[in-house]
Amino acid sequence: MALVVQKFGGTSVADPDRMREVADHVVRTRRRGDDVVLVVSAMGKETDELLRMAGQVAKAPVGREMDMLITAGERKATALVSMALHDRGVPADSFTGSQAGFVTDTNHMNAKILEVRPDRVRQALDEGRVPVVGGSQGVSTEHNVTFFGRGGSDTTAVALANALGGVCELYTDVSGVFTTDPRVVPVARKLSSISFDEMLEMCACGCPKPAMRAVEFARTHKVPLHVRSAFTWEPGTWIDEEDAAMEQAMVSGVVGDDSEAKITITNLPDTPGIAGRLFRGLAARGVNVDMIVQNVSAGGATDISFTLPKDDLPAGREVSDGLAAELGADQVIADDGIGRVSLVGAGMKSHPGVAATVFEQLAADGINIEMISTSAIRISCIVREVDLDRAVTVLHTAFGLDAAPA
Ligand code: ADP
Ligand code: ASP
Ligand code: MG
Repeated sequence: MALVVQKFGGTSVADPDRMREVADHVVRTRRRGDDVVLVVSAMGKETDELLRMAGQVAKAPVGREMDMLITAGERKATALVSMALHDRGVPADSFTGSQAGFVTDTNHMNAKILEVRPDRVRQALDEGRVPVVGGSQGVSTEHNVTFFGRGGSDTTAVALANALGGVCELYTDVSGVFTTDPRVVPVARKLSSISFDEMLEMCACGCPKPAMRAVEFARTHKVPLHVRSAFTWEPGTWIDEEDAAMEQAMVSGVVGDDSEAKITITNLPDTPGIAGRLFRGLAARGVNVDMIVQNVSAGGATDISFTLPKDDLPAGREVSDGLAAELGADQVIADDGIGRVSLVGAGMKSHPGVAATVFEQLAADGINIEMISTSAIRISCIVREVDLDRAVTVLHTAFGLDAAPA
């Protein structure tokens, strides 16, 4: 008999039919002899809807009230799923994040877990009941309701599995982690397993599933994850520590990301301390910089380009304009029409020529590369946003990732 934490994403609990299907699955799991803890997200697109409404009543809604509002989505879902379980004859109790023992810092809309004290969850399990916990939420050290941020329910599930000593299953609307987004490339292949390191690299490049924080938590605490479908219930993808049994593919996946923008400052003085001032200024405004390119100096001046989340573009632009004016740089160019294509694979470490193939393949398709960055197991290129899906498709095929025709 094992303990299984089963987390269901928004689409998996989007309506009453889906909730009844989830309840049926819990019945099947318990019949097998396992104990179940459920973690649920808000129904369908409810989080987006709540965020939109907040934006309509206030220009800059207060963090405390935002968290109270957003977490209501998950709270509603826990009660409805519990009712569906009762209806199947399964005793169940809904719990808010606070009731489930999630203590966080006071950082609203992005709260970090400080401690999990799942006493009430454990007690419910001991009484043969199914705890249904609201995802992505807790209570701060100042006793306010907090929200972990988008995708935070995955983190709730991993943290509970760790605290209770159970297996963690993340149910979603695709049947696992794919070689690339199956909605963009229909011939994407489901991976049977992938290492934490490769998964984290894919998350960092923009793969939305599972949420990056959850994967980081799972790697630190060695909690294996099973990403699988809440629609077909077939076995999905295992994310675990690298071992000999894993597919040692040269390339595991291709990730497209259209959420970044680019800023270029031209003709900056090429003297020590300039980059330090620019990126210190950006850090002070909370701007999350990804790629950075500085050109070779020509006549004592240089250009610097960097990428940042589109949402951070206004702050990034302000900081850059300020520094450019102070230093007499030529101009600041803000560009929100870029996309980033990334190739991830542990096998790259030992295979020369991967980068060359990436560049040749993009060139053969007439796709221009604007910036390049690499890690030991990743190559990323910035291209025009309009070329992004094509770039992903081309590289997916070039590296032999397309599924064989059925
Ligand atoms: P949930 O709400 O269930 O937690 P998300 O909607 O956040 O899940 O993420 C699931 C979506 O992620 C899928 O519908 C799929 O389109 C998208 N996705 C993008 N890249 C991948 C990938 N490489 N593997 C699996 N899903 C991916
Ligand atoms: N409902 C929230 C979101 O969509 C939190 C979550 O489900 O992970 O981001
Ligand atoms: Mg989601």
